[in-house]
Amino acid sequence: MCACRLCDNAIVRTWKSQDAKSDEVLEFGLCGSCGLVQQTSLPSDEELRIYYSHNYREDYKSTHQPKLKYVHRAGRTAKDRLSFIRLAGVTAEGKRLLDIGAGGGEFCYMATKAGFSAHGIEPHQGYSEFARTNYGIDIQSCGIADLNEQQADVITMFHVLEHLAHPRAAMKKLWEALSDEGHLIIEVPNIHQADASPHNIYFKAHLFYYSRFSLMTLASQYFELVCMQDEGNLFMAFRKRAVPLSQLVLPTQSQIEFTLARLEKKGWIEYLTTGRGLLKPFRRVDQILLEPKSEHTNPKLVLDAVWANDKPLQHITASVIGGTVLLCVALC
Ligand SMILES: [Zn+2]
Repeated sequence: MCACRLCDNAIVRTWKSQDAKSDEVLEFGLCGSCGLVQQTSLPSDEELRIYYSHNYREDYKSTHQPKLKYVHRAGRTAKDRLSFIRLAGVTAEGKRLLDIGAGGGEFCYMATKAGFSAHGIEPHQGYSEFARTNYGIDIQSCGIADLNEQQADVITMFHVLEHLAHPRAAMKKLWEALSDEGHLIIEVPNIHQADASPHNIYFKAHLFYYSRFSLMTLASQYFELVCMQDEGNLFMAFRKRAVPLSQLVLPTQSQIEFTLARLEKKGWIEYLTTGRGLLKPFRRVDQILLEPKSEHTNPKLVLDAVWANDKPLQHITASVIGGTVLLCVALC
């Protein structure tokens, strides 16, 4: 069918044949040698360059620049990501942080508040211009191939890797772009996770679908794992190897079988029950309650407010659910 872009072995098993968002025909293959799921007919580099510099944000956010409610959500997410980076033992003071796929610059701005010297790259012209204009953050409109050697002490990539057509080449480039003992922080959708709606898995923009095993394999030649968070999305922190290994460290047979078993189990029933999909309407209410009110009209002020004081999501969730239960009891 095609070669796996992680382990180079032939992919012989078709896993899905349809884009879950558009219902169009789109084939995904499952590699029996490493457990990676990928699109079997990958777009060309030029097609991807044009798509991400002009169309991607419009397709998925319906806008050419971030809306204010998105800025607020991105600010809260940035705080969570900075907490994970601290958990990985990465200190901020004096460190140069490079955010790849920086979007509207919200994470970079919050990272500067945490003490990093942060800059980013973002292929979308409208989003990178928004970051420069509103936060004064240095966001270049370029790609990973344009990075310089040892230009950062920490590199972050949040929901980027699944869009890259040449993930192994990207790892080599990231290794070169990091200073000695530098850290690489990655967040990707987790093919093992139970809490992803089947409508949001397997679609055009995501070329690859990683598990903790396949992501560790991908990074193994150039990086060693520092810590990992495997609930929901997959977070991994890596440290740069002084000398790259000669080849990848592939998953074990039992790890591949674990992934295959997880994939077989995924579906609407798991998502709605153990994946807590039934609670999704309540989480939407949380978002609406926490979104900025009319006095917040400036993106920078919105992020400043989020940095200074943000109500923890779980407290709101508990109050909304509790309130709803009481309401149901009263109505009965
Ligand atoms: Zn493979």
